[in-house]
Amino acid sequence: MAAKKQSPVNYYRIVLQWGIFALLAYMLVRPFWDKSYAPDFEAYCPFGGMQSLASYLSIHSLACSMTTIQIALGIALIAGVILFSKLFCSYLCPIGTFTEWMGELGRKAKMQLKVNKNIDRFLRLLKYALLFITFYFTVTSSELFCRKFDPFYASFTGFSGDVFFWYAFPALLLTIAGSFFIRQFWCRYLCPLGAVTNIAVYALPAAALTLLWVLLTNVAGLSIPWPWLLGAVCLTGFIFEAFTMKFFVFPTLRITRHEALCTHCRICDKKCPMAIEISTVDTVNHIDCHLCVDCVIKCPEKGALTINKRNMSWLPALATVILTAAAITIATFYELPTISENWGDVNGKNIQTVQMDGLKSIKCFGSSRSFANHMKEIPGIKGVETYVKHHRVVVYYDKSQISAEGVKAAIFSPLSELLNFDGKLATKVSFVQLGIDRCFDPKDQFYLGELLRSEKGVLALSTRFGEPVQAKIYYDATLTSPEKIEAAATPKTLVLGEGDQQTTVETGFAVNEAGKAKGEMPANEFLTLFIPTVDVSFNKYSSYSYDKMLVYELPFEQAADPGMQQWMPFLVSHASNDDGIVRIQSAFTESGPVIRIWFVSTLTTVGKINSALKSPELIVHYPDKSTKKVKNPFLFIFEN
Ligand code: SF4
Ligand code: SF4
Repeated sequence: MAAKKQSPVNYYRIVLQWGIFALLAYMLVRPFWDKSYAPDFEAYCPFGGMQSLASYLSIHSLACSMTTIQIALGIALIAGVILFSKLFCSYLCPIGTFTEWMGELGRKAKMQLKVNKNIDRFLRLLKYALLFITFYFTVTSSELFCRKFDPFYASFTGFSGDVFFWYAFPALLLTIAGSFFIRQFWCRYLCPLGAVTNIAVYALPAAALTLLWVLLTNVAGLSIPWPWLLGAVCLTGFIFEAFTMKFFVFPTLRITRHEALCTHCRICDKKCPMAIEISTVDTVNHIDCHLCVDCVIKCPEKGALTINKRNMSWLPALATVILTAAAITIATFYELPTISENWGDVNGKNIQTVQMDGLKSIKCFGSSRSFANHMKEIPGIKGVETYVKHHRVVVYYDKSQISAEGVKAAIFSPLSELLNFDGKLATKVSFVQLGIDRCFDPKDQFYLGELLRSEKGVLALSTRFGEPVQAKIYYDATLTSPEKIEAAATPKTLVLGEGDQQTTVETGFAVNEAGKAKGEMPANEFLTLFIPTVDVSFNKYSSYSYDKMLVYELPFEQAADPGMQQWMPFLVSHASNDDGIVRIQSAFTESGPVIRIWFVSTLTTVGKINSALKSPELIVHYPDKSTKKVKNPFLFIFEN
């Protein structure tokens, strides 16, 4: 018996498809040995780029963490469709590859179903509806709406982040099961990017609609909101696809069958991942063809199938690589701002700019938005641009109103944080002030705090603007020294989190000799700086004159304990049960922390107050007017 002849392999395609999976696998496993690496599975997403570009064109802001790379890839994808064919779908899309494999499994198991032609046409509407919804919500919110349901994003992020489980989980199940029973179920019926590529195939009607909208809104002065244009373009794409099911002008490359060489063996029909009947046509104009060239490679008759009458099966794969590389290269030289906003004249003669790089907190649309909102409140600042890829901001300011240093001071967010302080103090606290380079961003200041936390005697850190940033570090001189603190602040990396959650971040702080100082301060001054005090009045406090009230003061060590701060509102609520108690204050005095209880002597007594404070349970009132008893965690020392 003759051995079964092996079907030729489409290496052009397989290499690219496996290359994408290898890249994704690398992104998944790299965090196991590189704790500072955070995979970004959307880093090369052309669909995110398209949504982002739409958001940029309509509201001058890029969606989420999208940068010029995704936009350039989106433009390359559209150019690829028009010039060549639906190359991304065929060679790069991981969902396309996966669902194709699922379909192959279904075919081998003989479980594939053929969809009735009319139902098939109708189901194609779904992807255009999803496209409209996705673009509409992304542009109006500058958050990528597709993240909520995208099976790729959900699978690779473990259903975390912006994924909405009850959208994404059914979408994933439907994609897997649907593709097993129906060839390229996801691509044909659900993929919004598939809808975009088909709209690009029908680029001329889409362009005509866009031109008409521009003329009507800009020349004729009509007010037609952009969602109408989006809806019209989606509907046109669907009508052309469902009612013609074929290419017209674009794409320019088509599979051509040469009747004289064809033996009608129908192998091409069986091997086509899109289930197109190639053996019955001279030119494949079917809308689902994505020029994978499987049919060309697998056809046993050399030359029976070609691309545009030429034997160049390598061309689509090569074009895919060139377009992708060109998009990434161009994007490295040019970056669109995530936000570009002016609220004053940025071309006036007094306008200057401050540019700052490496602001780690500027990492997405949301952080850019809050940065812009904060800058709007600063007199003299007229506009901002943010560039998330390089964590860069450019601030436009009027030099007659604010200086460059003033702008930087406005960008700076000071930190004030307790580190290893447990509420127990000697009478004095030592401090050292260091100038720290590369510590401007709030994230950097947080990292500095975490580095210093490793030095046992460091009690707290506060920062203020300066170039370099001025960090004041408070410490217990019996446990550490300025030299040890300086050493603790300067390692190049920092490990955050525990166990599986561990990540390593780069720090690279340098202690600058400028502005170094050290000294001591009384403990109560330190406590006043870092621990909030309580001063709450209630029970008609303001209705009593001062001569009607007495103040009962008690030592209160627990006021200095950071862990007890959460209990202070409970204590106040409990005290308010006594109508005679009208105000509670905590304070840090030279003789130690105290609590002061203001009371009306005609309504209550010190004895009653002591009983309330000693009570094993606090009776606490909640905003919903309910009352609960909680265990009293306070230990007061009463004078005899
Ligand atoms: S595989 Fe080649 S020979 Fe066979 S039907 Fe298709 S085009 Fe014709
Ligand atoms: S017709 Fe040929 S090139 Fe087009 S999708 Fe089918 S197998 Fe691929």
